[in-house]
Amino acid sequence: MAKSEKNELMDKLYSLCKRRGFIFQSSEIYGGITSCWDYGPLGVELKRHVKDLWWQENVTGREEVVGMDASILMHPKVWEASGHVENFHDPLIDCKKCKARFREDKALHYFKCEKCDFQFRVNGGFIEVKDEFRTYFKDDLYAQEPTFYQKSDCPKCGTAGSIFLEKIACPTCGSTELSPARQFNLMFKTHFGPSEDTASEVYLRPETAQGIFVNFDNVVNTTRLKLPFGIGQIGKAFRNEITTGNFIFRSREFEQMELEYFVKPEESQKWHEYWVEQRFQWYQKLGIKRENLRLRAHAKEELAHYARACTDVEYKFAFGWSELEGIADRQTFDLDQHIKASGKKMSYFETETNTHIVPAVVESSAGVDRSILTVLSDAYWEDTEHDRTVLKLNPKLAPIKVAILPLVNKDGMPEIASAIFSDVKKQMAAFYDQTGSIGRRYRRQDEAGTPFGVTVDSQTLEDGTVTLRDRDTLEQVRIPKDNIVKVLRDKLAL
Ligand SMILES: [Zn+2]
Ligand SMILES: [Zn+2]
Repeated sequence: MAKSEKNELMDKLYSLCKRRGFIFQSSEIYGGITSCWDYGPLGVELKRHVKDLWWQENVTGREEVVGMDASILMHPKVWEASGHVENFHDPLIDCKKCKARFREDKALHYFKCEKCDFQFRVNGGFIEVKDEFRTYFKDDLYAQEPTFYQKSDCPKCGTAGSIFLEKIACPTCGSTELSPARQFNLMFKTHFGPSEDTASEVYLRPETAQGIFVNFDNVVNTTRLKLPFGIGQIGKAFRNEITTGNFIFRSREFEQMELEYFVKPEESQKWHEYWVEQRFQWYQKLGIKRENLRLRAHAKEELAHYARACTDVEYKFAFGWSELEGIADRQTFDLDQHIKASGKKMSYFETETNTHIVPAVVESSAGVDRSILTVLSDAYWEDTEHDRTVLKLNPKLAPIKVAILPLVNKDGMPEIASAIFSDVKKQMAAFYDQTGSIGRRYRRQDEAGTPFGVTVDSQTLEDGTVTLRDRDTLEQVRIPKDNIVKVLRDKLAL
């Protein structure tokens, strides 16, 4: 796909989300605030379903996992111990010519082969090649990390490790007169209490995980869990990202679903592999197409010094393969850091060996908003044959399960339909609509991802049956109106 087509798909998704009430720009009436998003009536339902399915799969559905909900504001020492104060930075570059400020990886990166004349440029994540070289980059014209291309094999002459970074330039004006990269901390600061001096500075948490680590002892002492065991949490986190964008993919306020799984240190590799597989399956259970998902193991150079391994689950978005979730074997780093900084013991008593040990942790850290963008992207379908746009959402995720529609607005049909609606609504999320032609009403529901439509027509008046329409196949069958809830429950597997 060309860059414009990719953006076009994101634009279409964006406008569908706004039109149907899934997602709105935050503070829109004041011109909006960059990279903050509000979930509307349908979006909030979709979000709840995603979180509920995660919680069911990873917390309540498992014997050895418990949940918790920590506060967003924490003691500032937490972030010193975790390494965020010192290390949670992005490298920023200033253009001396046009004064633009940008993240290092967003600079124009010019690459060249040492052996032949092959060259290409990476611009905002997209590889740009001259026409005569286009054949060498057939499929994937997207690059996430420009630096990955350094020392890679030349696609033209085949020389191993011959690609080098020739220069970087300003993405706004193209100038190569740039400042060296400087580190910028991504944590949001605020003040605790009435005084605004440095002593009162606290951070909005940049991740939920630390709330779990600092409560390790509290949870172990109150639950008496045996290793391996997990603690799960869903909550908001905040990062003052320099580069935001791609709709809800990267925003400054977002929600995480994190599971910290504590294991015996010698077993961490086994459990890391186990959770990579579990988490990869979970996205497929949401209904995401297998071919749009992949796993990417981090190279040694990418790993934090304490991590033994990290694997990302990636999704093929319109803007390229991007990370949905990371599953990391963090060893004993997090607990060790808090033990050192707090002076508290925080260990696990192993009865078999009669010793106190610090368990290793395998962390899976998923984004709620990224999961939602994935679900929406994967479900988006332009059915050209029937001239409609459909969100083929997994029925479990669909905000509305069934729409109840009178065929026409007369002959007692609205009365029957609204009676059905009040009945069904007690059992599942339903929607009643009598405005506009039946075709238009169906299309609105297709865009909302509603899997079923029930229509009251003239035959209903004669024999008490209604038509049941399937969103994806458009198949229509007649069923007795008294059976609607039962039939839908079966079809939805509720
Ligand atoms: Zn510039
Ligand atoms: Zn070459």
